[in-house]
Amino acid sequence: MNYYTELKNILDSHESFTITSHVNPDADAICSEIACFLLLKRLNKKVKIINHSPTPDNLKFLDETGDVELYNPDKHDDYIMSSEVVLFLDLNGISRTKSMESILRKSNAKKVCIDHHQEPENCFDFLLVETEAAATGEILYDFIKSTKIMEIDYQIALQLYSAIMTDTGSFRYERTSPKIHAIAGELLTKGVNPTEVYDKIYNQTDLNNLRLLGKAISSITTALNGRVAYMVITQADLRQYGAKESDVDGFVTYCMAVKNVVVGLLFLELEDGIKISFRSKGNIKVNKLAAEFGGGGHINASGARLYDKDIDKLIKNVILEAQKYIGD
Ligand code: 5GP
Ligand code: MN
Repeated sequence: MNYYTELKNILDSHESFTITSHVNPDADAICSEIACFLLLKRLNKKVKIINHSPTPDNLKFLDETGDVELYNPDKHDDYIMSSEVVLFLDLNGISRTKSMESILRKSNAKKVCIDHHQEPENCFDFLLVETEAAATGEILYDFIKSTKIMEIDYQIALQLYSAIMTDTGSFRYERTSPKIHAIAGELLTKGVNPTEVYDKIYNQTDLNNLRLLGKAISSITTALNGRVAYMVITQADLRQYGAKESDVDGFVTYCMAVKNVVVGLLFLELEDGIKISFRSKGNIKVNKLAAEFGGGGHINASGARLYDKDIDKLIKNVILEAQKYIGD
């Protein structure tokens, strides 16, 4: 029996489900959750989507019926404890659910992880992890097609398309394969409007946020003979522009636009530490570099969070460690 059939059996043979994903969810996280929610609803299952973080404003149109709930222990702990299955989507470790971690670890539910990140934590009862997939949405597409568990209609197509479009950087990143374009093409035949989806997700920037991007771009510095570019955003910057952590999503990609750069880094000062975003080109495995700082992710896009205050020292350390991955 293959993994898809096994997953189908798990869905068919249980009645109550909790769906969750990672802190600061991106479109792949939210859309994968909603796609699974719609699927389980159609199978007449009891299901809730519960997240640690609120849905970012630009993704709210994907949750028209308001099915994504913000975790509240008083409201959700009993539901989570009584769920037969928890679906962890687009995340490889339970700690990435932050405030939900302890209740999720306590629950006796079957823990199912559907994801495309490297090295899932050794705590799940069932893994459908395809690190070659461009998005969790792609894995769900393959699962639905392979098992014929449901028809892909406009509602589901909108979720899968949005997940794939965003996680491939609008069909630009390494995983942009003929297969991904073929899937996207099929999803468009279901009525998804690519211009509208792009516009709703990406052309919603608050002017202040665009100015913060300007500041971040001005901070770009290169190192290691121009092979590394990094930007720094401080708490003072966030305050000045009235921005929050999720507003800087995607900023790091501008480091990659600098000629000859193969590793891009963003150092974001948090209230209680520092978040690093890592990006790379080709075979440079920034997930390994991120792991040295307690993080992880994909080969070309990773992250880490440190309870550290000294950003200058951290920058020096990361660049020092980056040297061995660049290899020249
Ligand atoms: P971003 O830099 O966009 O926040 O994150 C890029 C990728 O790195 C995410 O898709 C996620 O896979 C991974 N990632 C980000 N932050 C963390 C973290 O703190 N821990 C781990 N293990 N992975 C992270
Ligand atoms: Mn993803």
